[in-house]
Amino acid sequence: MLAFQLRNAIYNIRFTTSAAHRQQNFSLTSTRWISSFQLTPYDVNMILRENEFSHIFTDGENTLLGYESNQLASNKPVEDSRTEASFIHKNAFICGIFDGHAGSACSQVISKRLLRYIAAGLVDRKTLREEIAKGCTSQSFLKCHNDSEDFVKEIQKIYEESFSRYVNDIANTEMTPEEAMDKACLQLDSDMSDEALKHSDLRTIMAVAMSGAVACVAHIEGRDLSVVSTGDCAAVLGYQNDTGQWMSKKLSYEHNTDNVAEVKRILSEHPPQEADTVIRNDRLLSQLAPLRAFGDFRYKWSNEIMEKYVVSNYGENYMPPNYYTPPYLTAMPDIIQHQLTADDKFLVIASDGLWDFLSPNEVITLVGEHLSSKKFLDPLKLPDGDVTLGQISAILAKRKAGRQKKPLDQNSATHLIRHALGGTDYGIEHSKISYYLTLPQDVVRLYRDDITVTVIYFNSDYIKQLS
Ligand code: MG
Repeated sequence: MLAFQLRNAIYNIRFTTSAAHRQQNFSLTSTRWISSFQLTPYDVNMILRENEFSHIFTDGENTLLGYESNQLASNKPVEDSRTEASFIHKNAFICGIFDGHAGSACSQVISKRLLRYIAAGLVDRKTLREEIAKGCTSQSFLKCHNDSEDFVKEIQKIYEESFSRYVNDIANTEMTPEEAMDKACLQLDSDMSDEALKHSDLRTIMAVAMSGAVACVAHIEGRDLSVVSTGDCAAVLGYQNDTGQWMSKKLSYEHNTDNVAEVKRILSEHPPQEADTVIRNDRLLSQLAPLRAFGDFRYKWSNEIMEKYVVSNYGENYMPPNYYTPPYLTAMPDIIQHQLTADDKFLVIASDGLWDFLSPNEVITLVGEHLSSKKFLDPLKLPDGDVTLGQISAILAKRKAGRQKKPLDQNSATHLIRHALGGTDYGIEHSKISYYLTLPQDVVRLYRDDITVTVIYFNSDYIKQLS
């Protein structure tokens, strides 16, 4: 598996095709796929719902009502990861989506470690020092909702040593939340580099260093929402305007070649004579699609380290072309902060596999309408005071119309994935979803990427009290 992953690192860093290209391929080839094999609606539901997850916060004194998540793999094994957790020492929530490339190793590792680094930096310093005095571990600050497993013992020990150094380093340093989140990303990446150089004989540690991952993390405490993003996952806020219309607000910048400021930043960090080679064919050093990432140290290490640890172990092919003035890649995040209001209803975080098919506006409208239609499924509640028979009749008629729009999926992340794969101008087309779900493993990645989605719902009543 490692050999496959590492080979993948050279030859298939990130295969991206545009949504338009995929759509075209569908119309050209779908008949062939449909005629050979078509899933039943039951089969489609089973596949789409296999990884559904939801969590409800029963405590009313909470900014969040709950969240819904789902994942549909394209790569085998899937290279996306996701984690959601509540803070142990305060009423705050953190979650992230991590999209790996050149294997799943880096994505799996940062999906656990990054939230722990961020959490330690966000607890107050007195609490942090008390926890250190008690002999805290990386798991002393968060209660994870979707994952109870940890790393194998051999690497866990190495990771805990790094974490311990990190918390001791920051224990007496006051930082703003933004500084703490920024430092957590850079320190974790630096620790992963040091761990690889120190334990280059450990295959698992090197697999993490030779693969990479992008991350998008949301932290919510009271009305303060922060989105920390490195790479090309994205977060979008859904809110209602004065007329009740669903509106979207992007809370992340993608770090890819569509982002002009990002391309300028990278070019400015290297001599002018490298202008034609730093980014070529929309990829960093003609290989890597995301322009910021965790891991991927063969785009970060010096030439001397590359010779000693990479070329000698993996061969010349592992040296990116035109590698003159490293580092070319950074894990530095962009952080966007937003103060929640009662109009803000939900946040959608997703890997690029979703955004290849749906725009932020489409996603917000789909989740907003899904949310409205679910309301019709709640028990009937009549307004206070005198109600006429005519009014009751109007309410019942509205509910009946709403029930006809009842979504197939209770989970809004599944609703989004279903629309991503099967959406047409005329609604969901079953044969189109079936086509995407039955593509052979050796070509499926050309048509769709791993898709991971988390939808977080805000508690407007509680937010109103905080305002
Ligand atoms: Mg992806």
